[in-house]
Amino acid sequence: MNGENKIITQANPFIPEPARIVRTYHLTEDVKFFQVRIVDMEKALSFQYGAGQFAMISVLGAGEAPFSISSTPSRPGLLEFCIRKAGTVTKAIFRLKENGLVGIRGPYGNGFPVEKMKDKDILIVVGGLGAAPLRSVLLYCLDNRDQFKRVIVLHGAKRPAEMIFREEFLSLKQREDLECYLAVDADDEGKWTENVGVVTTLFPLVKKIDPANTHSLVCGPPVMYKFVLKELVKLNIPKDQILMTLERRMKCGVGKCGHCAIDYIYTCLDGPVFSYWDVLHMRELI
Ligand SMILES: Cc1cc2nc3c(=O)[nH]c(=O)nc-3n(C[C@H](O)[C@H](O)[C@H](O)COP(=O)(O)OP(=O)(O)OC[C@H]3O[C@@H](n4cnc5c(N)ncnc54)[C@H](O)[C@@H]3O)c2cc1C
Repeated sequence: MNGENKIITQANPFIPEPARIVRTYHLTEDVKFFQVRIVDMEKALSFQYGAGQFAMISVLGAGEAPFSISSTPSRPGLLEFCIRKAGTVTKAIFRLKENGLVGIRGPYGNGFPVEKMKDKDILIVVGGLGAAPLRSVLLYCLDNRDQFKRVIVLHGAKRPAEMIFREEFLSLKQREDLECYLAVDADDEGKWTENVGVVTTLFPLVKKIDPANTHSLVCGPPVMYKFVLKELVKLNIPKDQILMTLERRMKCGVGKCGHCAIDYIYTCLDGPVFSYWDVLHMRELI
């Protein structure tokens, strides 16, 4: 899949590469966008990653944590992340301003199998912060539009103000080569022009799917998977063509510490992207 991507800190995988914050702004009240560039220009340009891979981001004195890369590999040089304030590391990242420094290790994980997805229909189902890894693969598909057939996006959030990359997705709706449907659970301000209801209420809006030729990519809060997977199975999409990202607590990112192990699988190496088929065969489910 993305096994050939070069890990930039190959000599010692635990030494982070300094990277400068080029742009940061709030996406929602508790989620911020960060665009960073690795300070060493040569390393910045040779940081090759696949859509769905993640990086470890560190702040001196605070620690490090894994974050999905939200930018697309088709636009090298800058890396983008969307980060929710959760604990020690993310609070420290939130305090940083443009020009501030973070450490970057990676890229890690398997990412989405974009080669296998070529010439297929792509159905992306996003919930909440699931937009972080799925934006990467969506932008990749749009930058290489001739390599994929239909590209369909269903994006759900609790409220309009909580939709990650809301303006970006609203403007993507104008594209004729993309079928994009957005929904919020509740429209508290009465200004929302799109659908109201949970993300699964968007499925009936999608024109007939060709299940054998569709790859579905899903990422969202745990509660969403149960209902979305039911819809995808109803559509007869084969379970090995339903891909989802699993989050586990991770420390090293390189398969040494065992923090993210599920059975004999290391999420940091074998994941975070797994097929529904894989997940059904794991003893410990999502
Ligand atoms: C592959 C991958 C990709 C990710 N991508 C993103 C992303 O794009 N954006 C994003 O915002 N987050 C992402 N995350 C999640 C992020 O890495 C975590 O939220 C991380 O813990 C934040 O670090 P922190 O120090 O700020 O929070 P922590 O201090 O680690 O706390 C985070 C939360 O976890 C709880 N917690 C702390 N320790 C444990 C423990 N041992 N077991 C269970 N719960 C515990 C805390 O109470 C708190 O609610 C990703 C995680 C993985 C594995």
